[in-house]
Amino acid sequence: MRAIDVFCWLSVFLVNLMCMSDKPLKHYLFASDFDQTLTFNDSGYVLSELVGIPTTEFERKAEGMAKLNLVQQGAELAYLLLHDPEFRARVRREHLYEVGKRIRLKENIELLYQILEKGIDGYRFDFYVLSAAPVEVIQSALEGIVPPDHIYGTEFRYKDSGEIDTIAGTTAGYGKVAALDQLQTQLQVGPDHIIYVGDGNSDVHVMLHVKVRDGFTIAVSEARHVSQVAKRTVLSSDALAVLVPILEEIVGWERLQIREFFESYGLLIQEWDHVRTDWLTLRPAASELVEAVTTD
Ligand SMILES: [Mg+2]
Repeated sequence: MRAIDVFCWLSVFLVNLMCMSDKPLKHYLFASDFDQTLTFNDSGYVLSELVGIPTTEFERKAEGMAKLNLVQQGAELAYLLLHDPEFRARVRREHLYEVGKRIRLKENIELLYQILEKGIDGYRFDFYVLSAAPVEVIQSALEGIVPPDHIYGTEFRYKDSGEIDTIAGTTAGYGKVAALDQLQTQLQVGPDHIIYVGDGNSDVHVMLHVKVRDGFTIAVSEARHVSQVAKRTVLSSDALAVLVPILEEIVGWERLQIREFFESYGLLIQEWDHVRTDWLTLRPAASELVEAVTTD
């Protein structure tokens, strides 16, 4: 065979190979909250314990802040770190890093990241974390699991002494919407190719934003305002559980196929209860109230 023939044959082979691997991927943005979505507790509690402030005291202050509605929902800790004399005097950057090492993560976050990235044939889900927690806490907790540039949290500026000086930005409440919009532009995905997972009040703004633009919202708690906005609610101590509604409703798999997929990663779905929660408050109709008063 002449050298030119070999060259032509090789070129055709390489082009074919490139075409084969160039199968179009459906590209999604998967954004997740951190506190109580990827973890079992709030960073604020772990931080308070670490610096010797009673957790009841943190809870009282955070609840007081939330009632004032002075800051975006979820930004109470950030505000306390900057303005509460006790927190400001005690908390340094290294404490935030240490909180990340102490906080209890849900199972299998690393596997969730890997499966979303390239484990589902024909799909790619870019995994980002959007949280009101200090970015140092999240980056430390997810070190080696989620790349630092995929993590958006509250960012502080520090004095030379190590004390917190100012807040550079916070991804709380509506701040999550702004961060998500920025990511959507950056990744060039349509609004219907966004998935948001969250557990609490600070997720309501962003969930409404995702929902009205035909995105997919998943709640991981039964907190009333969140589960009402979410398309699906999944309760599990394993982070992989959020794959179930994604595989069912986006990828379009049946239950058996999903079970087999989990089994291929050595995981058995032991219990799978599907319950739709209706939130109801009943009160007597006005006429009955009057009747009750008149017959009393
Ligand atoms: Mg949360």
